[in-house]
Amino acid sequence: MTDGNTYGFDTLQVHAGSQPDPATGARQTPIYQTTAYVFRDAEHAAKLFNLEEVGYIYSRLTNPTVSALQERIAVLEGGAGAVCCSSGHAAQIMALFPLMGPGCNVVASTRLYGGTVTQFSQTIKRFGWSAKFVDFDDPAAVAAAIDDNTRAVFGESIANPGGYVTDIRSIADVADAAGIPLIIDNTSATPYLCNPIKDGATLVVHSTTKYLTGNGTVTGGCVVDSGKFDWSANDKFPSLSQPEPAYHGLIFHEALGPMAFTFHSIAIGLRDLGMTLNPQAAHYTLMGIETLSLRMERHVENAVKVASWLEQHPAVEYVTCAGLKSSPYYERAQRCYPKGTGGLFTFALKDGYDACVKLVNALNLFSHVANLGDTRSLIIHSASTTHRQLTPEQQEAAGANPNVVRLSIGIEDAKDLIADLDQAIAAATA
Ligand SMILES: *Cc1c(COP(=O)(O)O)cnc(C)c1O
Repeated sequence: MTDGNTYGFDTLQVHAGSQPDPATGARQTPIYQTTAYVFRDAEHAAKLFNLEEVGYIYSRLTNPTVSALQERIAVLEGGAGAVCCSSGHAAQIMALFPLMGPGCNVVASTRLYGGTVTQFSQTIKRFGWSAKFVDFDDPAAVAAAIDDNTRAVFGESIANPGGYVTDIRSIADVADAAGIPLIIDNTSATPYLCNPIKDGATLVVHSTTKYLTGNGTVTGGCVVDSGKFDWSANDKFPSLSQPEPAYHGLIFHEALGPMAFTFHSIAIGLRDLGMTLNPQAAHYTLMGIETLSLRMERHVENAVKVASWLEQHPAVEYVTCAGLKSSPYYERAQRCYPKGTGGLFTFALKDGYDACVKLVNALNLFSHVANLGDTRSLIIHSASTTHRQLTPEQQEAAGANPNVVRLSIGIEDAKDLIADLDQAIAAATA
């Protein structure tokens, strides 16, 4: 069931990538708990290893439960193919891996998930890669940062956690003009609120840990390829456009066309980096996606209700939620994200760092956790947790100042969430 042209989102989130199990008729996608798959004969095995026939070899590379999830996410994002991996951070490395080499750089937004800032500013240096951070509100600055060694531009659609929304089209135009792929982390928006590929992105990455799974059970990630980038237009992407010694000289783009990136990610990325998603996790995420649009509608509705209430509270200094009319990004959000800006936002308490710590301790319904995109409402004091390894300048750029807390609004009754915040703010500022 892959007819993305005729079925609507609500149908595709339930059916895409899955069908009754051909062996048993099982209606729900089974968890194929197996490491390996029997070859029909020696010739079949040879064809699979040559990528002449698509099939299953070994679960580090492919697994039927994981394949169902890959196809479902690819269809929802409007991509040619997708590869799942063990976490969102693994997906980011998997997205960069076919593009980069020692000495290459990625031009990235200053407004990113804190873990991504650390991964890009520190850890990727071990591979000889580097990142340049630029304000994505200034497309001319993005263009100026791209140099001969730039191999990707990277941003988040709805940026976690500062209430910032990216005008993807404006950045895609810059990347296009430079002949560089744009990678968008669509974790916070999900394909229900944003379709980066429609707006010109080449690759979409996800932490499926968050809204796609939706219930805080498993970590996972995904890279979706639009299939539209011409890897052979110049010699910048030799692993895709030239004979690849790591796969007996196969020229991926020539042999596999729009599926070149996806097959490269499986045949070399998963084979050699091994950041594989397990079938049990894929099952939980498939189950989660079945209700994605329903949950996102409620997340959006609740977030605007809670943010509006907080905005008028005398103890609150400001609320950053692009769904509020007071946001500098309201107009852009209406234009680029008409179905809403998700369930994440931050607010600042006038009383500062200590009041935030008391607030977190006083809440009953909200859980204090380093996660987001759960059915349950969550809170975190970013400056003392997820963003504590960043410099004060990086914290501020990410909207994670010391007096700011981030909320991930769940799908509970908005009035109960407001009542819990009301009593906790009173306790924190007494
Ligand atoms: C959580 C998150 C990540 C990292 O994903 P993991 O699954 O935790 O590795 C990356 N980007 C964003 C926007 C996230 O919220």
